[in-house]
This record gives sequence, C-alpha cells and structure tokens, in this order.
Amino acid sequence: MMTTTEKDGDRSRRLVVSRAEHSISRKQIDENTLKVLYRLRRNGYLAYLVGGGVRDLLLGRIPKDFDVATDATPEQVKALFRNCYLVGRRFRLAHIRFAGNHVVEVATFRRQPRLEELPRDSDEHFFFTENVFGSPREDAFRRDFTINGLFYNIDDFSIIDYVGGMQDLHDRRLRVIGDPLVRFTEDPVRMLRALEFSARLGFRLDDSIREAIYLRAPLIAEAAAARIREELMELFRHRVAAPVLRDAQSLGLLPHLLGGFEGEAETFDLLEQVDGCCSNSITVGEPLILAALFLARFRRGLQTQAVETVGEALRLANQLLMPHCGYFRISSAVRHQARELLTGFFRLSRGRGRRGEKRFLDHPFAVSALELFRLWSEASGLERELVASWKEVFTSRGAVPDKPPRPPRRRRRRPRGRKPPSGKS
Ligand code: ATP
Ligand code: MG
Repeated sequence: MMTTTEKDGDRSRRLVVSRAEHSISRKQIDENTLKVLYRLRRNGYLAYLVGGGVRDLLLGRIPKDFDVATDATPEQVKALFRNCYLVGRRFRLAHIRFAGNHVVEVATFRRQPRLEELPRDSDEHFFFTENVFGSPREDAFRRDFTINGLFYNIDDFSIIDYVGGMQDLHDRRLRVIGDPLVRFTEDPVRMLRALEFSARLGFRLDDSIREAIYLRAPLIAEAAAARIREELMELFRHRVAAPVLRDAQSLGLLPHLLGGFEGEAETFDLLEQVDGCCSNSITVGEPLILAALFLARFRRGLQTQAVETVGEALRLANQLLMPHCGYFRISSAVRHQARELLTGFFRLSRGRGRRGEKRFLDHPFAVSALELFRLWSEASGLERELVASWKEVFTSRGAVPDKPPRPPRRRRRRPRGRKPPSGKS
C-alpha cells in the first residue's frame, strides 16, 4: 500500500495518495491548466489542482472547469504570466488568459479567519472570509464538502487529502467539512449546494446535513440574492432542479429560498420535464425556467381571476413575476420574455381559431411558448391533442426552432446580501 498518512508543515495528519493509486492522469487535464501548474511549480511555488475538477476526475466524470490553487500571492502569479490579469474587488484572483477566450483561474490558498478578526458588520463576513491567505491545510478546511477539498499536486502527481474526501468519494456520501450547523450558519448557500451535489453525483446526504438544513433553513433568506440565483441556475444547468427543489421542500428550505413559493406537485412535475428536455450539452434559458417556476400560480390566477383576455393574462403574469425578478435582480429583458411565455401559454391553452392567431404565430416567443405548453402537457398528461395540433401549425409555417434557447450565463460577481421579498411572489 503506497498511500501514506504523514504530517505536513502544520504538523497535522494528511493522506497522500500516490500516482499509482489513483486514476487521475495528466492527459485528462487541459493543456493550459497544465502549463500554469508547471510554471508555478518551476518557480518554486506549490501548484495544486483543486475543487470540482479533482472530484470529477476521480469519479470518472468530465469536469466543468479546472481551478488552480497556489502559495504564490496574486501579485507573484501576475509576475510570472504575461497574459495574467488580477480580478475581484474583494478577493484577488489571478486570471490567466489563453487563446480562444480560455481562462485559468488561480487562487492563493486561503484560510478561515478567527472570530476576533471578523469585521463588526456581519454582512461583510462572507467576503472577509474569502480574503485571508493561509496554508494548503487551512485552504482545504475552509472548503465546503470533503469531496470538494481534495488537492492534486503537480509536483509528484499525488492527491493530498486533509479532510477525508477520498473515503467519502469511495463511500459515495456527502459530508460537510466541520460541523454542518456552524458551516451553514457561516454561509447558508452551502445548504443549497449540499442538495445540488447530492443530486448531481447521486451521493447520499449525511444525516447531520439533513438535520442542520432543517434547523438552519431560514438563514438562506439572508444570503445574497445574486448568489442564490447563480446556484439556482446551476441546478438547471445540471438538470437536477426537480429533485433538489423537492428535497428543499421536504427539509423546509424551499419557502426561505424562493420567498412565498409553495412547491406544488404540479411545479415539480413540470421541472422534471424541464430537467429532462435537453440533451447533455444544452441547457434551457432563464425565461423558460422562470415561466416554469410560475406556471402553476399563473394557471391558478387565470381561474380565480376568471381571466378572459390576453391583456388580463399579461397583467397577471407581470404581477407574479415582478417581486421575484426585483429581488433576484433579473433583467427586464428576461422578465419580459418570461411574461411573454406565460401569456403565450394562455393563448395556446385556449385552443385554435381565436382572433389574432396569425399575429401570435409570428410573435418572436411563440415557439418557446409552445415548448412550455408541450412540457406542461407532458408533465400533466393533459391537452396532448392540442399540443399536436399546434405543432402542426407551427411546422407548416416553418417555425419550429432549429436552435435551442441560449444557456444561462455564469456570473462570477458576488454582490452583497439583500433581504428576501415579503409575502407571496
Ligand atoms: P462545479 O464547478 O462542478 O459546479 P465545484 O466543486 O468546482 O463544482 P465551484 O462552485 O466551482 O464548485 O467551487 C469551487 C470550489 O470552491 C469547491 O469545490 C469548493 O471547494 C469551494 N467552494 C465553493 N463554494 C464554496 C462555499 N460556499 N463554501 C466553501 N467552499 C466553497
Ligand atoms: Mg468548479
């Protein structure tokens, strides 16, 4: 057995898994990331591949991206690479740019600040926490889950495990580094990430995570809205929105996550269709996601308000979307599209042969509205014939989309926390 448990500079135990004993090969790491790792190493710095890249390679999955961590400061990294830009107002990261818009992100090892170091204003904690440089061991311990805390060392191609991540990968279970109650209080977004990783990887959630989410659920309403929005979009990118939001519902997280959201079975069934409707490389756009989240309430509103005209439907859609979009700072363009999809749904659900049908068929969002209508029909088992009939009309006009909607863009910025909207949204 070549795996060794040894002591590092911090005089604490760590597991070092030698190259012969793990499956990660340099061939699986992209060329630019390798160049960065090697140059750091040649200049005497520690250079590790970290985070999701290591986890996914060990699981035989294709990583979304590769992140690098080092003991060089951002300025020292910049001095090594001509194509390097320091980014981030609060936490300085080095972005090394390569041809084809490819960026390798290099972060300096960080640590959790001590309580007495924290600023008085608790809003600042999250950002302050991101800003204190530390040792590799401290950097591993500030991470969220054990499986996300593994390092691949370019020096000898070994994996360094300070947090028990290798065992948890083997056992396929998700465990928080440290006490979940404390770590979720520090950063409540980790509760959502826990459900996301468990669904994405098919890993069992540790019981301590379930208990802690149950106890700390209300804190998620205090997290920065932009971060929640980003994590929610991740759920759709990875096509696990339905199982994650179902879990969030059963653990009492959902109403705090999406103010006033009731989590009707109808919505979950529709989200399952949204999750399943795209091929591996394609994700649905944010307007369709928004429309799907609000469709059950929209349909209920149509009934209770006895909506008859398109104008009334438009107003109802607006009313429902406004508080949510305001809170999550969703652009008016996206909100506008979501509103058009809901209104389009209303038009389609009324059946064929209505006044203005021809004009509607020319509407830029009519095809996407049909997609929403189709997904709803699949989920509910209703109106299948009507969907088929509309499809025929659209196809005969050559209006069936050949291009999928654009995937949601990933945002890096982490704005400050905002309070959740009150009441229903
Ligand atoms: P993927 O990119 O595949 O979604 P990932 O694990 O790389 O998964 P990222 O959001 O890219 O997730 O974060 C990179 C790493 O940063 C994580 O693996 C984890 O170690 C650390 N990390 C991210 N968010 C947090 C957080 N809220 N608290 C502590 N550590 C975090
Ligand atoms: Mg990542």
